[in-house]
Amino acid sequence: MEPIIRVENISRLYHVGGRAVPALQDVSLTAVAGQVVALRGRSGSGKTTLLNCIGGLDRPTSGRIWVGGDEVTQLAEARLVQLRRQKIGFVFQSHALLPTYSARENVDLMLRLANLSRKERLARTEQVLRLVGLGKWMDHRPFELSGGQQQRVAIARAIATRPAVILADEPTGELDTTTGQQILQLFRHIADVEGTTVLIATHDLAVDAFANEVVHLQDGRILTTIPH
Ligand code: ADP
Ligand code: MG
Repeated sequence: MEPIIRVENISRLYHVGGRAVPALQDVSLTAVAGQVVALRGRSGSGKTTLLNCIGGLDRPTSGRIWVGGDEVTQLAEARLVQLRRQKIGFVFQSHALLPTYSARENVDLMLRLANLSRKERLARTEQVLRLVGLGKWMDHRPFELSGGQQQRVAIARAIATRPAVILADEPTGELDTTTGQQILQLFRHIADVEGTTVLIATHDLAVDAFANEVVHLQDGRILTTIPH
C-alpha cells in the first residue's frame, strides 16, 4: 500500500539567541491508510514540531515530506492552505470550539468552508456526530458538554470533510485517565471505519494499546519504532 504520510530525513533547527537548537534530527517515518501512529516522548522531544511540519504549519530545515501524494515541503503557502483544508484534520489539547455554536453548528461550519450543499452538510454532520458518540448531544453547546464530549465535537469537526490524515497534538492532555482512553479508542475507531491515517502526539502510555506503531522520540531523534 502507498503511504499516505512519508517523512524522509527531516531536521528542524531553531535559532535561539544566535544558537542553533535542533528540535528534530534526521527523522523518517511512513504511515498508510487506516493506521494509527503514536508519537511518544517527553516534553521538548520534538512531537509538536514533527506534527507541525507534516501539517504544513512549520517547515523543516532539511528533508522532505509527502502527504497523500503532495510534497508538502515543495508547496507554496497558498497551496499549503488548500492542502490543510482538504487533506488534514487537526485536533489540539484545547478543542477551540466556538462557544455560542451547538455541536452541530461547530461541525457544519467546517463543511460550509468546504462548499458542501445544505443537504450534504446535514447528512455528514449527523453521521460524524453519531460516529463520535454524540448522537444525543448534537444541539448542545460546548458549556453544556463534558470535557470529553467537547473533545469529541472537536474530533467530529476534524473528520467532517473526510481528510486523509488526522494530526492530534496531546488530545488527551486536559482529560482524566478514563476519558482520555475513550478518546484514544475513538481515534482507533475512526481509523478503522473511515480509513483515516491518524498521528497522535502524546506522553500518554495508554495510546500504545490503540496504535499500529509507536514512535519514541528523544531530543528530536527517533529512538525506537515499535509495531503493535
Ligand atoms: P514536544 O511537543 O515534544 O514537547 P516541541 O516540538 O514543542 O516538543 O519542541 C522540541 C524542541 O524545540 C524543544 O527543545 C523546544 O524548546 C524547541 N522549540 C520548539 N518550538 C520552538 C520555537 N518556536 N523556537 C525555538 N525553539 C523551539
Ligand atoms: Mg508538544
